[in-house]
Amino acid sequence: MMAPLTQGCGAVFMMHHVRPARTGDFQPNAHLEITPEFLRLAVERIRANGYEIISLDEAVDLLKSGYGHHRYAVLTFDDGYRDNLEVAYPILKELQAPFTVFVTTGLVERTTELWWLALERIIAENEEVVFTQAGEQNGISCSTTAEKNTCFERIVDYLTLEVGELDQRKIVRALSEKYGVDLAALADTQMMNWDEVRELASDPLVTIGAHTHSHYALARLDSSSARADVTKGMKLLENELGRRQKHFAYPYGKSHAVSLRDADILRDIGFSSSVTTLPGVLQSVNARDPMMLPRVSLNGRFQDPAIVDQYLTGAPFALYRAARWAASGFGVRSGFSRFFPSTR
Ligand SMILES: [Zn+2]
Repeated sequence: MMAPLTQGCGAVFMMHHVRPARTGDFQPNAHLEITPEFLRLAVERIRANGYEIISLDEAVDLLKSGYGHHRYAVLTFDDGYRDNLEVAYPILKELQAPFTVFVTTGLVERTTELWWLALERIIAENEEVVFTQAGEQNGISCSTTAEKNTCFERIVDYLTLEVGELDQRKIVRALSEKYGVDLAALADTQMMNWDEVRELASDPLVTIGAHTHSHYALARLDSSSARADVTKGMKLLENELGRRQKHFAYPYGKSHAVSLRDADILRDIGFSSSVTTLPGVLQSVNARDPMMLPRVSLNGRFQDPAIVDQYLTGAPFALYRAARWAASGFGVRSGFSRFFPSTR
């Protein structure tokens, strides 16, 4: 009913892992993974709704030109997980669907911390996690799934909202050492190496985009550190792949992690677009600032093809924005936030 008002000219879909569903009750990062079956269904639903799946390059050109093209969709994957090559790529190749992978170079080099997965593992494997918060040692009980979920949320809130990005990594390194999680080995099992990134990049169906070197929330860094981390990632990709990447994705990408200052930095460096995780479809208004494009997250907790149809109407995002606006006036958390959780 709302579609005529809220539907845009296109949509950029955001995904992370594509792999078979895991068993186990404690899966705090489940929103970041979809199954290969759902990926296939989602592509079919997008096409059945009359959207053509095109490359990010073409989409940015169409958005800027405002040309009256039929509706289009772009598929994107953040971080550079190995399952993008091993699981998603064969499916998208078969379906001839172009896609973009935003690569965090520090993860390819095994020097950047996959802190959200390290934290999941630490909490999964322990009955209690001793954690120093604001100089005070706290033992957090993690013996049941409910306790593990609460513990995960509490530590993530602390790491992403209360301490700076550099302290966040120090804390994660200390916790990983204490609980025997090898961060480099974890990245080795989860992330592509350079040969694998090159293999993907060699297919014209695939666009590689930049996603910083260290996966910091840029808005939480000072201006020169933000620029340095973006530049380092961009240069490494250029050296390893032999060409400069034109598109960028903000790590985390929600309002606390993205700022107009960073959009200026990216424009100045020479990127032609950057995508956020702010939920929404592409509308003509986005042409004014291709450095702040919204995306539609395919949330692993709601893997229902019907939801793809709903997302494409744009209505859930208009409702989300309205609910956020209303909730902010009453100081309450909007019920919609569970559909649009923080991503990585
Ligand atoms: Zn990311």
